[in-house]
Amino acid sequence: MAEAITDVQRGFEAALPELVAALGPEHVLTDFFHRAIRTTNASPMGLHLWEKLLPDVVVRPGSTAEVAEVVRIANRHKVPIVARGGGAGLADGATPLKRGIVVDIKRMHAVLEIDEENQTVTVQPGINMQELNKILRPLNLWYPDDPASYPVNAVGGRIGSGGWSLLGAGYGHVPDLVLSMEVVLPTGDVIRVGNGGARKIHKSSTGYRLKDLFLGHQGTLGICTEATLDLAPRPEAELPIFFATESYADSHRIIGALGRSGLRTIAGIFMFDQHKVEFLRRDDEAWIPLPSWVKSAAATILYGTRAEVEAARDVVFEIGGSLGGKYMGTEICEGDWASRHDRYHLAYHGRANGQIKLMSWSCEDAAINYSALPKVTREWHRIAADLVAKHPEHFDDWGMFTYTNGPFRAWGDYLTEIDIGVNELEMTEEIWRDWVQAKVDIARISVRAGGSVSAAHGGQREGEVDVSCYEELAEGQFDLMKSIKRMLDPNNIMNPGKYNLDEAYPGGES
Ligand SMILES: Cc1cc2nc3c(=O)[nH]c(=O)nc-3n(C[C@H](O)[C@H](O)[C@H](O)COP(=O)(O)OP(=O)(O)OC[C@H]3O[C@@H](n4cnc5c(N)ncnc54)[C@H](O)[C@@H]3O)c2cc1C
Repeated sequence: MAEAITDVQRGFEAALPELVAALGPEHVLTDFFHRAIRTTNASPMGLHLWEKLLPDVVVRPGSTAEVAEVVRIANRHKVPIVARGGGAGLADGATPLKRGIVVDIKRMHAVLEIDEENQTVTVQPGINMQELNKILRPLNLWYPDDPASYPVNAVGGRIGSGGWSLLGAGYGHVPDLVLSMEVVLPTGDVIRVGNGGARKIHKSSTGYRLKDLFLGHQGTLGICTEATLDLAPRPEAELPIFFATESYADSHRIIGALGRSGLRTIAGIFMFDQHKVEFLRRDDEAWIPLPSWVKSAAATILYGTRAEVEAARDVVFEIGGSLGGKYMGTEICEGDWASRHDRYHLAYHGRANGQIKLMSWSCEDAAINYSALPKVTREWHRIAADLVAKHPEHFDDWGMFTYTNGPFRAWGDYLTEIDIGVNELEMTEEIWRDWVQAKVDIARISVRAGGSVSAAHGGQREGEVDVSCYEELAEGQFDLMKSIKRMLDPNNIMNPGKYNLDEAYPGGES
């Protein structure tokens, strides 16, 4: 082990002057501050772990050629290299587990082409969706990738994580919205992947589906340096409709019926469970207090022409009202939908024995079939309750959201998240072990219910990664992943340590 660290260190020392020569000293950052702010991502990481994850250097390339040169240098000297966009991932993807070089892609944020006739845009990976949509708005065009983290993600990070959008049931998720990409492979070669070899085509039957390989790989197979994205016309009307209910069971029936309605204007269907309603009532400034009989909520968001949305509204009211839902009124519906990108600024909102405690947010985000939702919800809360009972100063159950998960369809399976407050500041290794075990248990329940460990973020954080690789992907997929990784990245330089892929190499940890 000590030998391996020495080798990486030696490689880094040889690589550093070459990086400076390739990018110029102003884009090669070695000072502590710049490395420290790019050490972890938005998911909790106990302070006791921070120091060993600090990268050796941060580079800020400005072009595909510069990214390719940085990768070639890393490959030549066998130094780990980790791509980083907004750093708001929740799967520890941008966290350099083996230190080395962090490639901050945000300098590459140009819009390269807007094709109004074919409704596509070609961008560099560092642009974020909010900025992109500001540019597209005067053209009445829209890039409809809408995660809760919308203002802070880079398009490249969305691609690296294979992102999920709140509007996916209407407009598709990131893998559906990316038509083609330029990728720098771990050897420094530059390729283009798309539907077939094309740039702006939505469906092709030519060749393998290689594009999918480079969506959601968490920076382990290459660095995206350019992407061509699908655009939608700006919808004429938007209508959020929220129903308050007396029970989880009522909300569950409403979301199922809304999905089965087949309404094409539905872009998403959501549900808040009782713990979530209690949490919002307790601690969310944007939440307008509701009567105590309200125990849960079911909601949908409609987009389309004015005529389509008005017709769909009547159907939605009929379904919600007939199944025990009480319409929450325009103010709450519009307010809550408008705050969907802000809802997670929750620091200080942990409670330990009734007292406010600084905690950060952890999100477990499985994909679960509709029929399994009640059971998974009960079992996850039981795990959270055991954890909170054991460590009341360190964890807090912030409840669950459930959202439609299928692209272009509002039924079938749901992104199901449990939000847990984690006291990172007072974390110890012993308590961290209990936390990791709780995440293993949560992930295992998802897989045993026929679901997936992660619908949006990537199932590769400590603990859950073993369930992903050895249980969810047990039927040959994990073995194939290792073969692909070894073939594309012979020296294991691209984000090593992720998805247990070190096992693909001789001497790799198990
Ligand atoms: C408040 C909050 C709400 C969230 N809500 C959602 C949500 O609704 N839906 C959702 O999907 N996610 C959500 N997330 C998670 C997160 O924002 C997404 O995973 C997002 O896609 C990460 O983008 P980023 O630019 O921040 O990427 P980063 O965190 O920087 O990186 C993510 C991964 O992509 C890799 N990567 C970065 N750039 C590139 C590149 N150019 N080429 C190849 N790989 C690259 C990184 O190495 C890493 O593995 C949320 C996060 C927060 C904090």
